[in-house]
Amino acid sequence: MPLESLALSRGTVDRLTEKRTDAAWLDAAWADPGTRVLVVSDGRALVRLTDDEAALVFIPPAEAPDGTRFLLGQDTADGTVYFGVSAALPPPLPGTRVMWLREVGTLLSDRDAGLLTHAVALANWHDTHTHCPVDGTPTVVDPGGHSTRCPVDGTEHFPRTDPAVIMLVTDPDDRCLLARNAAWPGRRVSILAGFVDPGESAEQAVIREVAEETQIKVTNVRYVGSQPWPLPRSLMLGFRADAPAGQAIVVDAEEIAEAYWFSRDELLAAIKARDIALPPPVSIARHIIEQWYGGPLPSTWPEALRPR
Ligand SMILES: [Zn+2]
Repeated sequence: MPLESLALSRGTVDRLTEKRTDAAWLDAAWADPGTRVLVVSDGRALVRLTDDEAALVFIPPAEAPDGTRFLLGQDTADGTVYFGVSAALPPPLPGTRVMWLREVGTLLSDRDAGLLTHAVALANWHDTHTHCPVDGTPTVVDPGGHSTRCPVDGTEHFPRTDPAVIMLVTDPDDRCLLARNAAWPGRRVSILAGFVDPGESAEQAVIREVAEETQIKVTNVRYVGSQPWPLPRSLMLGFRADAPAGQAIVVDAEEIAEAYWFSRDELLAAIKARDIALPPPVSIARHIIEQWYGGPLPSTWPEALRPR
């Protein structure tokens, strides 16, 4: 069954990819005072918080700070065009605060979650890909902000996304494999994950990563859904996989501190006893675990990061 309601896989605006190279249309849209600009800086944006929801703070183009500009798209319901600008954030106004994508992702509307995810992904790319990889010349950003060009050799460069796999492995008793990464603080556990290697399929990456981290050999790898995770530039590809009987977990001690099989009852008991903490609701990991569990699990995440 496919995953639903992934916080960062929402988004309702038309990305208007055909307008990214139309300089005249872009100039006219930027000159329109009804256009709205989202300023992002280092994965953060200004957010207006009320009792039960969060909304991005947009500004008109005339008030936008200098910075790399990119087209985000158009709300087809009301015609509003949205741009992003990567620049220092303006000081928060009363009722607003600076928030990270990962802390506000579940609180935003579908439209705003999509706009912020898109903007953070593009800003991260612009911030770290400023020079031509062929000859080192500073590149020039194209009008739509979705590509850059080298003024010396003419090469064109596009945003980068790194595919990563994340997988819930079950044994013949339908227990799920959860692991604690050696780099994670406290009692946080999650399902296994890793980057897709060059020249490798996502399914091959699932099999390889599970074996590397736990020496468990999995079969029946099947895709369940994906979520962009532009922190800084990943696309998380979610999978389920089966571990045939008779295998012992042997963790790769450098990356994985410990890994165990959990039945549904054992998982619930461990969370309630605060022996473990699950990944936050913004993550695809949390959704895959809850899909296997069959419903929402109690949150042990800090109050400030819970959905309201
Ligand atoms: Zn070049």
